[in-house]
Amino acid sequence: MIFDAVIVGGGPSGSTCAWKLVQAGLTCLVLDKAVFPRTKLCAGWITPAVVEDLEIDLGAYPHRLLTFDRIHFRFPLIGFKPCTVQHSIRRYEFDAWLLARAGAEVRQHNVRSIRQQDGLYIIDDTYRGKYLIGAGGTRCPVYRSLFKARSPRAKALQAVTLEVEFPCHYDDDSCHLWFFEHGLPGYSWYVPKADGYLNVGIGAMAARLKYRGEDIRNHWLQFSDKLRRTGIVKDRPPDPKGYSYFIRGEERPVRIDNAFILGDAAGLATRDLCEGIGPAVRSGLIAADCIVNGQSYRLDQIDGYSGSSWLGRKLFEHGLHH
Ligand SMILES: Cc1cc2nc3c(=O)[nH]c(=O)nc-3n(C[C@H](O)[C@H](O)[C@H](O)COP(=O)(O)OP(=O)(O)OC[C@H]3O[C@@H](n4cnc5c(N)ncnc54)[C@H](O)[C@@H]3O)c2cc1C
Repeated sequence: MIFDAVIVGGGPSGSTCAWKLVQAGLTCLVLDKAVFPRTKLCAGWITPAVVEDLEIDLGAYPHRLLTFDRIHFRFPLIGFKPCTVQHSIRRYEFDAWLLARAGAEVRQHNVRSIRQQDGLYIIDDTYRGKYLIGAGGTRCPVYRSLFKARSPRAKALQAVTLEVEFPCHYDDDSCHLWFFEHGLPGYSWYVPKADGYLNVGIGAMAARLKYRGEDIRNHWLQFSDKLRRTGIVKDRPPDPKGYSYFIRGEERPVRIDNAFILGDAAGLATRDLCEGIGPAVRSGLIAADCIVNGQSYRLDQIDGYSGSSWLGRKLFEHGLHH
């Protein structure tokens, strides 16, 4: 069978694109190397814009969802707690729910090779599609095969992370972010989830850490000690796992012929908070619109920052990159 679109990766970018293509009546196959529900390292913070873009009725969402009305921001000399409305979900549940909701055909398959023949994309000599969507995250095979040579990623834009999500009876159900502690070119977080899960982690710009001769694992040890010392977490958190991804740089090709890259495959996470779910979802919507309505696939409608103030942006840029 020839599909209208083959989507590589069933995370938020791929499932959003599939959802909109299926709604428009196109045949769509999602290939993912993992079986869903699958673990995705992520703090699972989602903004109201994500809820709106995905048309989620919060009352009807069937899994863990916690809403915060405050986030505690702490910098070396100052802290503040702005009023806000933000949410946390567990990616293990959220991604599987989004993918099932999309209504596309899903196959578990680790994509290795991609070639073009007679106007079609042929994946591993097995799957055929008129459009090819690269939504495979940092190590997306569509990016690697078709885009990497034209659109290499800058090392300076790579963020490294360590995090763990675990069952925990926490007392404090608000979100905490600590910026630039012990000179970290990044921040650490405490993000509670509904019904007794907690996510804690640390993220930083890889090139800045390397320049300073530092290892993110030492920053993690200081952070996990602090969580225990201050009593916000009673026991030392379990050992974390690591992952890296790329934040937004200058505009680069994101469409070649009928192949597109979305989300982390295109390096769309925001420059200040490294928020990637919102940009992934938005790029999925834009790509689907482009295929269905012949719009151009332009990602300049996706903000490269999570924060809105000019001063905030400059402060973050200084702390992360200098
Ligand atoms: C520790 C950490 C914390 C984060 N916290 C937040 C947060 O709180 N809020 C936020 O907005 N963003 C956060 N992010 C960023 C966010 O997780 C990503 O930006 C987002 O998941 C990108 O979505 P995506 O659909 O592009 O890719 P992904 O969610 O990575 O999905 C890619 C999919 O492609 C599949 N795949 C990969 N290779 C292949 C292959 N060869 N064949 C088939 N399938 C393949 C994978 O199995 C995966 O399911 C965090 C990231 C990290 C690492």
